[in-house]
This record gives sequence, structure tokens and C-alpha cells, in this order.
Amino acid sequence: MHKKDELIILGSGGGRHHVRTQYRATGGLLFKFNNTQAHIDPGPGAIVRLNQYNEDPTKTELFIATHLHLDHTGDMGAIIESSRESLYDKNKKFFKKGTLITTSDTLPVISKYHLNMLENIIEFKAGNCLRFKNAKIIGTKVMHSNNEGFGIRFNFDSYSIAYSSDTTIFDGFAKQFNGVNILILNLLRPDSVSCKRHLATDQVLPYLKKIDPIPNAIILNHFGVYMDSPLSKKNYIPSQVEKIKKFTNIEKIIAAEDGLRLKIDDILD
Ligand SMILES: [Zn+2]
Ligand SMILES: [Zn+2]
Repeated sequence: MHKKDELIILGSGGGRHHVRTQYRATGGLLFKFNNTQAHIDPGPGAIVRLNQYNEDPTKTELFIATHLHLDHTGDMGAIIESSRESLYDKNKKFFKKGTLITTSDTLPVISKYHLNMLENIIEFKAGNCLRFKNAKIIGTKVMHSNNEGFGIRFNFDSYSIAYSSDTTIFDGFAKQFNGVNILILNLLRPDSVSCKRHLATDQVLPYLKKIDPIPNAIILNHFGVYMDSPLSKKNYIPSQVEKIKKFTNIEKIIAAEDGLRLKIDDILD
């Protein structure tokens, strides 16, 4: 059932430094399931990365923006417009295409022109649940900014994958990922370089251990300026991978890289 399901990292960077420098790209995630293509959090450069990594933007039919920050929404207009070769069908009639899932306060940052191209616009928040083809899509809770936001979990018959989005830890952080096989974790900061809006390794470690059962794999993603950039002392990502591996006993701790292609089958193997 999930033979062809695939995740492509169109950007492993997060925050304004990477938006500015593109030292790590900010194009979001492309998730392919059941012959459906979803683009999650298309930040600035998303359309460039799709082309760079030979992906076809016209195949995208599900658009997700988990909150209104620029590194999650910057290219949404370009991605919606690029999901179609034409605005008109063969009878020269304007048609709508695609489904957008986002918060109510993100809608105003996407142009009306592009919103009008969509067939469905779903205002979404943590705790919401919806069926999309063979997926049950669930909004997970985040504690990130004063704006609305959610993480997202896809439950399929044969596996479950979740994306934390930007958040810090809170009571119940682990529980909402119980039963998840693959967790994509937006880990902006290394070790104890904590921040009240984002995750740092030492903060999140005890919570990762509480997820029951322990996931098959964790994909570390959305690295910030303190994690790996010309302004960080070094690239801290390898040491964070080792630390999380050691502490959680999860073998597959995968560090996102720009353009990294992950077959769901290989991860679940
Ligand atoms: Zn972000
Ligand atoms: Zn954010």
C-alpha cells in the first residue's frame, strides 16, 4: 500500500537567517502518498527547489501551511499557481483545483487571486481531523508564537507519519505522537541552546523517550542559525544525531539535507 510513498526534503533550514542566505534551503517538504502529492510549508525558494530536484509542481494537489511565518508560507502563491499548467480547461472555462489546509490567520497572507484557484480551503487547527483520500489527517498541538498553528499527522492503514512543525515542548507533546512510525521534528537548536518558541535537543530528549511505542525513525529538520550556518561554531547536526540515538535507542535518526529523498518503505524496513 505504501510501496511508492516518499518524502523529499525541499529545505532543511528554518528561520530568517536561512531564508536570507539559503545556506540551508527553505522549500518545505514534499510528501507523496497513494499517488497524491502534498507540499507542506513551502517557504521562500520552494518552487526553485522543486525544479532543482526534478519534481513536478503540477502534481501537487494538497497544500499545507502550518502557520503564517514566512519560512512556511513564502512561496505558497507560486506553488498553488504552479500546480496547474493552465487556469482554463479545454473548453476555455476557468477551473479550481487542489486543497489547502491552513490556519484562519494564514489565509490573509495568501493572495485572494491564488486562494480563488483552489477547490477546497480548509481552516485547520490542533485537534482537527479530516479524511483526505486514504489518509486520516490530524492536527497536532504546537506552542510556538501568538499566531495560530498546528503540526500534522497522517494516519494510514499501514503506517503513521507526523510533522511537529515549529514548537517548543509542553505537557502532552509526546502523547500526541504515540503510534507514529516516523516523526519529522523541527529541531532548530542544538544541545541546551533553548528558546521558548522552538525545540533544542536537550529539552526535547526526555519527551522523545516518552512516545509510546517508540517511533521507527525520527527525521531531524528545519535547522536554525545556531545549528548549522556560517554563524554557528560548527555544524552541530552530527553530534545531535548521535546524542538522540544514544538517549532514545532509536537506530534511525535521520538528519534532513536539502534534496534528500526518503522512501517510506526503506525507513520502515
Ligand atoms: Zn519555521
Ligand atoms: Zn515559525
